[in-house]
Amino acid sequence: MSTPQNREQWQEMADSLVIQGQAFINGEYCAADSNDTFDCISPIDGRVLTQVASCDLLDANRAVANAREVFERGDWSQLPPVKRKQVMIRFADLLEANRDELALLETLDMGKPIRYSGAVDVAGAARALRWSGEAVDKIYDEIAPTAHNEIGMITREPVGVVAAIVPWNFPLLMACWKLGPALATGNSVVLKPSEKSPLTAIRMAQLAIEAGIPKGVLNVLPGYGHTVGKALALHMDVDTLVFTGSTKIAKQLMIYAGESNMKRVWLEAGGKSPNIVFNDAPNLKEAAIAAASAIAFNQGEVCTAGSRLLVESGVKEELINLIEAEMQAWQPGHPLDPATTCGAVVDQQQLENVLRYIRAGVAEGAQLRQGGQQVLAETGGVYVAPTIFANVKNEMTIAKEEIFGPVLSVITFDGMEEAIRIGNDTIYGLAAGVWTSDISKAHKTAKALRSGMVWINHYDGGDMTAPFGGYKQSGNGRDKSLHAFDKYTEIKATWIAL
Ligand code: NAD
Repeated sequence: MSTPQNREQWQEMADSLVIQGQAFINGEYCAADSNDTFDCISPIDGRVLTQVASCDLLDANRAVANAREVFERGDWSQLPPVKRKQVMIRFADLLEANRDELALLETLDMGKPIRYSGAVDVAGAARALRWSGEAVDKIYDEIAPTAHNEIGMITREPVGVVAAIVPWNFPLLMACWKLGPALATGNSVVLKPSEKSPLTAIRMAQLAIEAGIPKGVLNVLPGYGHTVGKALALHMDVDTLVFTGSTKIAKQLMIYAGESNMKRVWLEAGGKSPNIVFNDAPNLKEAAIAAASAIAFNQGEVCTAGSRLLVESGVKEELINLIEAEMQAWQPGHPLDPATTCGAVVDQQQLENVLRYIRAGVAEGAQLRQGGQQVLAETGGVYVAPTIFANVKNEMTIAKEEIFGPVLSVITFDGMEEAIRIGNDTIYGLAAGVWTSDISKAHKTAKALRSGMVWINHYDGGDMTAPFGGYKQSGNGRDKSLHAFDKYTEIKATWIAL
């Protein structure tokens, strides 16, 4: 079937879709041990899409035991890297071959526009699997510089059983940023998608088997964080826990690891990223286009969202006017309409969170310049108008806390020192943008910002070659690039006396 071209065709495809909601353990779909399920509700219109297995401790135990068994047997962990590479590439090909279905599931499940779920999410997920697979037979171990009568080998080995707990904002993509290096290096994985968006992970598990990944190597356990998520985090036989999600839960996972087997914990958490526009920005219009996209793309449900726009006073009014105009291109619409750029927020609870922050912005004295309300309520779905606050102080709640919605806080500054001070005045350190024509100022600012990613004269750049992750309470370790392989391998030093 060719890719649907309009909303009606996507809807037709949605109506004929058979949606799988079961867990995937040891190569097979199955109900949760308790037989419990929960409704999977689409934020597009409030419809129940399917019932999803609500996994818990017993399912975690079963999946981890299977993952361990296959790891020890070596079906995957002991394959030559070149063989794992071939399977990973096939896995990526299968994601691409099923792009429309996966994109549709993602859109129905969490409300993002269909134009992005295929082109950004599925394409990016396939790229992550392919890139990691292609890399794995090109990484060499090391020989230490020893005396003549000895050899010191420094080798990398897979860690064993990896539990991956991922969020709802880019469900497939975040999962594949973990699965790529985790599987390529030979580990077994138990993946727990968010209860708000489990469908693509569940579907993808079957594609892994089709690609040739042995049974038990990739298991998917849908369910809640406080049940199956917690069970995995406390599990005594999980070697490594990789996580993308909020800083609050990230901290909790470190406690669980300490209370159990001291499993390695790698965290990609929240952000409150400053996007700094100096008076000498090379092109204000481009800065405005990027600033609007940085807060409205994916309904603002992006860890790297440019949620704090720091603008130097000389260009403040002009920039805000340009962003207001640009925001017209980001008004919410039906997510299955290929023209829609901004879809539904993930659920009713998230809608209420965002509206609560908007009320706090008004109450604390920020100037509401645009948006500020729920829209399209008549659809039965949950949509928020992109919102711009000016005259924001960095101490205000909307400038301090991660809203995870399309709400922009504009903060004014004068001079590089003040920009850096405000930019760094946050518990987070994920990303930052810097707009200036002065190369020296650009480098000085980039160096001074305590964040894992800095974008100069654009926003949100990078590909699989660049590490992704944050300083401070935005987490530790990195996804993407060869640095991600560090999370999934142990280093062994073998010393041989000759
Ligand atoms: P969340 O922390 O609420 O949930 C993330 C995952 O953790 C979900 O699967 C959830 O079920 C699980 N979980 C919740 N409680 C748990 C517990 N007690 N034990 C084990 N697992 C538990 O985050 P979210 O709302 O799904 O996602 C939004 C957050 O993700 C934002 O803070 C965003 O910044 C962050 N995020 C970060 C990155 C990054 O790379 N740094 C990327 C995307 C999203």
